[in-house]
Amino acid sequence: MTLTSHPALTAVQGEIAKAAREVGRDPGSVTLVAVSKTFDAEAIRPVLVAGQRVFGENRVQEAKGKWPALRTDFPGVELHLIGPLQSNKAKEAVELFDAIHSIDRPKIAKAVAEEMARQGRRLRLFIEINTGGEEQKAGIAPKETEAFVAYCRDDLKLEITGLMCIPPHDEEPAVHFAFLAKLAGECGVRGLSMGMSADYQAAIELGATHVRVGSAIFGSRS
Ligand SMILES: *Cc1c(COP(=O)(O)O)cnc(C)c1O
Repeated sequence: MTLTSHPALTAVQGEIAKAAREVGRDPGSVTLVAVSKTFDAEAIRPVLVAGQRVFGENRVQEAKGKWPALRTDFPGVELHLIGPLQSNKAKEAVELFDAIHSIDRPKIAKAVAEEMARQGRRLRLFIEINTGGEEQKAGIAPKETEAFVAYCRDDLKLEITGLMCIPPHDEEPAVHFAFLAKLAGECGVRGLSMGMSADYQAAIELGATHVRVGSAIFGSRS
């Protein structure tokens, strides 16, 4: 298949490489998750044609409507769920996605573990941490991180790929990225899903292994 370049995607890839090199990291150690939520197949195709294969969606139903057909046309797609998951959607989520970034409570961890066993599938799992301690926000409280990781590993026999955070809107994101990196180190988890369009360079400088970038690639969402 010929690759036709996608200027916004190329620009983001360049920024990722630059941010990684600035702190002596291999650009290949950062996975770009292109967040295609709200965009239809027509908007996603050019990004696939340009060679991008890792995508993020925040709703199971929406992803189910778009991705099976796109996957038929573009082999090797890896789909990441980045939005909240309800346990009654665990079955569909495990069928459709290759990674979940939003494991945010014991009930969801258990439902996903049971579905993976039932379906014989292994997804990459990230635990969402509420680093800002925001009342309305999903996620495990920072001080519960170690106990929750231990529960996932020891009780549910899950392999945990990393931690994930969405910093509060009105705070310096770098503070939260550094905090998430510290928590991951304390519980021996390697992956860090952090950084969005406005701040992925800072996240990479602080160790992000997965950046979730939507509008910088696809344009603003209506
Ligand atoms: C929408 C979304 C993103 C991408 O946001 P942009 O600012 O468009 O890059 C990243 N992470 C999560 C959890 C999201 O819901």
